[in-house]
Amino acid sequence: MLISQELLADVTEWRKLIHSQPELGFNEFKTSAFIVQKLESFGIDVHKGLGGTGVVGTLRNGEGPTIGLRADMDALPIEEQNNFAHKSTHANCMHACGHDGHTSIMLGVAKHLSENRNFNGTVHFIFQPAEEMLGGAKEMIDDGLFEKFPMDEVYGLHNWPGLPLGEIAVNNGPMMASFDTFEITLTGKGTHAAMPHLGADPIAAGAALITNIQSIVSRRISPLRPGVISVTQMNSGDATNVIPERAILKGTVRSFDMDVRQSMQDMLTEMVTSLPPLYGVSGEIDYQLGYPVTTNDQQAYQAIKGAAVKALGADKVNTDVEPSMASEDFSFMSQKTKGAYFWLGVDEQTPSKPLHNARYDFNDSAIEVGIKVWVSLVESQLPK
Ligand SMILES: [Zn+2]
Ligand SMILES: [Zn+2]
Repeated sequence: MLISQELLADVTEWRKLIHSQPELGFNEFKTSAFIVQKLESFGIDVHKGLGGTGVVGTLRNGEGPTIGLRADMDALPIEEQNNFAHKSTHANCMHACGHDGHTSIMLGVAKHLSENRNFNGTVHFIFQPAEEMLGGAKEMIDDGLFEKFPMDEVYGLHNWPGLPLGEIAVNNGPMMASFDTFEITLTGKGTHAAMPHLGADPIAAGAALITNIQSIVSRRISPLRPGVISVTQMNSGDATNVIPERAILKGTVRSFDMDVRQSMQDMLTEMVTSLPPLYGVSGEIDYQLGYPVTTNDQQAYQAIKGAAVKALGADKVNTDVEPSMASEDFSFMSQKTKGAYFWLGVDEQTPSKPLHNARYDFNDSAIEVGIKVWVSLVESQLPK
């Protein structure tokens, strides 16, 4: 398959423009307007305002099946430390996760497919807001994404430092972990530190709780099924001679398996309510579900693998990589319909900076690879 040099030059220019105008989650107004203007110029039907700034472009060519391809648009609250011409022009905001690359590639795919209709069916190009922590995918779903645009399958990608340029990675199973957060409130009875027996110490209860929380993953979850519970904040007390009334613990829970995720939530909740009373302290937990596990459907995995082998060659397609403990809200979409998610390599001789680094810049050489895999996927899933 040939992707024109002219298109690649255009997409590179769009990528740099988007990089220079980063916008935070749910505030992707300029980015969204740019996408709308481009899609309309390709003759694609555009639906705006789904989940706030979200956009869906629809390209129909025949009565075949319907496929959804998703790109994310948001940037991060980081002050960019690069000095090239396309560096961020917005203070404390930058595309440090390469979503500028995802969005530009998707526009390139839309343009290519509008001009080369070697498919039979419908493609929805989904541009979602707020992937970073805010769950923009879920907002689009709650706003009727799958009812207004019914689709048989949905796919997503992320650029991936650590993976060589020209290659992709896709697993038959988990790619990214679930993430949840929790806040534990321990309420005791404040008293003079010299007379602890007159109060109930939430700090002693908190220390015991933190130690015991470690036993959930190490003693009660199968060692063959990964999970993480990290207590990352502990706040209490203002003086050396006062036992405070309250202590707050906060942290995060990660896993690759929905059963393990549920077990960790249940066991943590049970421990928070049953252990502190041994210290005369009461414990309450506010457990917030974040993103589900991003795990690939077997058929959708086969579809990406097959399309990528056709587009790039079998030696460029990695199918058994270690999943990442980071998370992805694409998981909300692939819970709704058959879906899969792959990583796009960006590393050259000098390895890429990590994602979320203040010097990150999406590698434009990966644009062609990304477009080829997407186009190949559409052509193989919606055959003429
Ligand atoms: Zn990110
Ligand atoms: Zn990202």
